[in-house]
Amino acid sequence: MKTICINCPLGCPLEITEHDGQITVKGNTCNRGRDYGISEYTRPVRTVTTLVRSTDGRVFSVKTSAPVPKDRVFDILERMREIVVPADSAIGDTAEENALGLSVDIIVTGVPAPRQ
Ligand code: SF4
Repeated sequence: MKTICINCPLGCPLEITEHDGQITVKGNTCNRGRDYGISEYTRPVRTVTTLVRSTDGRVFSVKTSAPVPKDRVFDILERMREIVVPADSAIGDTAEENALGLSVDIIVTGVPAPRQ
């Protein structure tokens, strides 16, 4: 399997192989790349970010508190789109706990300017 490490701007090209149950990562410059390559091969995960509406119709940014399995990204995005946060939400507030039972919360990461 080939992929690119996304942990820093260097973007090292990784080649991940498995032989007799032993996973080998080549192309990484540091251990973060090795760990990323193993994770991508065995159980790829992603942190999900999106925008949600508030009770007064403004747009807030949110993200998952931790990465979720890559094959659940669209499920969690659908759930996030259903969320309506209170108009007085602040950065760091939890918009939803344990979303879809994935043991991650949905956290407010950005708030719009107040209405004038
Ligand atoms: S392997 Fe290390 S140096 Fe290369 S992109 Fe990943 S984090 Fe950056």
